[in-house]
Amino acid sequence: MKLPPALERVVASLARLPGVGEKTATRFAFHILGQSDTWTSELAHAVGELHSAVQHCERCHNLSEGPLCVVCNDSTRDPRRVCVTEGIQDLIAIERAGEFDGRYHVLHGVLSPVKGIGPDQLRIDTLIKRLEPEGIEEVIVATNVDVEGEATALLLQRLLEKRGVTVTRIATGVPMGGELEYLDQVTLARALRDRRPI
Ligand SMILES: [Zn+2]
Repeated sequence: MKLPPALERVVASLARLPGVGEKTATRFAFHILGQSDTWTSELAHAVGELHSAVQHCERCHNLSEGPLCVVCNDSTRDPRRVCVTEGIQDLIAIERAGEFDGRYHVLHGVLSPVKGIGPDQLRIDTLIKRLEPEGIEEVIVATNVDVEGEATALLLQRLLEKRGVTVTRIATGVPMGGELEYLDQVTLARALRDRRPI
């Protein structure tokens, strides 16, 4: 049986979510159809305003609802230490571990010759611009512990150490090939505590 086009459109949109196939999307669409008008309007409104309401922090490229994110706006954070992550989800994982009290810098990617991602595609220039005005003394590289993450860490070490910044790398407990966002909080907290010079 063919679904009404309006329902078909919802199925097609939901099927684009990761891990959601046509069958699950259809189940979700029928579930949404069974909800109240209020709920479906709220959902549509929340999704609709997402792009205009959520932006990137102009300092660290974390998600924010204003020019600066909640971390950058928090005066109790230590501006001398900056933790560099590949993505926002890694930042969230590190925040959840509750060990780090400095600021962040999100690269939005890692070096990858295979995918054609070089230093210019990463937010490295904005990190270098932050060093002096913020008095940054230590940069902790918390990229994933894999080939691309390590290459990115070495590049940052090369660029930052000649500018007088200590570059450290998260250490113990992060397995090779380990993706940060899937690590438990204790492991991640220890990895930050035991960071070492590169
Ligand atoms: Zn920020």
